[in-house]
Amino acid sequence: MSPVIEVTNLRKAYGPTVAVADVSFAVERGEIFGILGPNGAGKSTTVEVLAGLRPADGGSTVVLGVDTQREPAAVRPHLGVQLQESRLPARLTVGEALDLYAAFYPEPADAAELLDLLGLTDQRRTAFADLSGGQQQRLSIALALVGNPQVAILDELTTGLDPQARRDTWALIEKVRDAGVTIVLVTHFMDEAERLCDRLVIIDDGRVVAAGSPASLVAAGEDRRTFRMRLPAGTAPALADGLVRLPEVDTVAAVDGGYEVTGGPRVLPAVVLALAEGDVAPDEVRTLSRTLEDVFVDVTGARPPALEAAS
Ligand code: ADP
Repeated sequence: MSPVIEVTNLRKAYGPTVAVADVSFAVERGEIFGILGPNGAGKSTTVEVLAGLRPADGGSTVVLGVDTQREPAAVRPHLGVQLQESRLPARLTVGEALDLYAAFYPEPADAAELLDLLGLTDQRRTAFADLSGGQQQRLSIALALVGNPQVAILDELTTGLDPQARRDTWALIEKVRDAGVTIVLVTHFMDEAERLCDRLVIIDDGRVVAAGSPASLVAAGEDRRTFRMRLPAGTAPALADGLVRLPEVDTVAAVDGGYEVTGGPRVLPAVVLALAEGDVAPDEVRTLSRTLEDVFVDVTGARPPALEAAS
């Protein structure tokens, strides 16, 4: 079976700014496929070109067998797109918005079913401006799905939602996928990608820097270990400072009144042994398992934007 989406050597510049230098990936039917990357990496440009909303400068984008560069209109009835910050007129009600969008498609979804799926049945007559942030977000997902698309592209799905609303939205996306829709998820939230995506690419500076399932990406770097420990009060600071000179150790950082140590597979025994030679036994040793966030930091050299925003 051929992939539902095939992006090959995509390139797109805005004047002198190269937004996408060289991006290739393929998405299989029924997948939730993630596109991750720091701000400005080229994620939105990639999906806008993919959806036939912008012309590319090079490479090809094929969706459901249609070249979206040559025939953007041919794929539109089968493609649902939720772009960042879709704003609707303040007084437009949920029901009116759905009817309006449904009119663009030959075989729209059943509006009542869609409202039920998205938990918006009671808001049918509510104006856009009177919806909560979570409800507005769910409406924008409903609008992306109203055309009964085979493929849905969702950009920054849960930005601005509270933790409960984010979890509800994740459950909803899984329901939509289970109904047979292939989903492309643009996100900068690592937990979201780890939880939802079957496979993903990480894009940095307009190029794919990592690709695979969350589990395979996390496992690929497992030769690097991280652990935290506390040292007994009165331990000479020079002893902790000297740990970074051990060949197994990469970094030692003071964290939460203790230390976070990273290094190779044998970093923990090497540190415990070195401390024992100084007659010190560490307290509260806790190993940290690697997450997609660590992969992101490794391959992009950037802190995830979610953390930057929070700090
Ligand atoms: P991301 O979605 O990963 O944040 P974008 O695709 O939005 O990345 O942007 C990639 C680069 O292209 C950035 O440097 C951005 O400033 C630039 N860019 C995006 N859209 C435009 C535009 N319409 N005109 C000019 N530059 C743009």
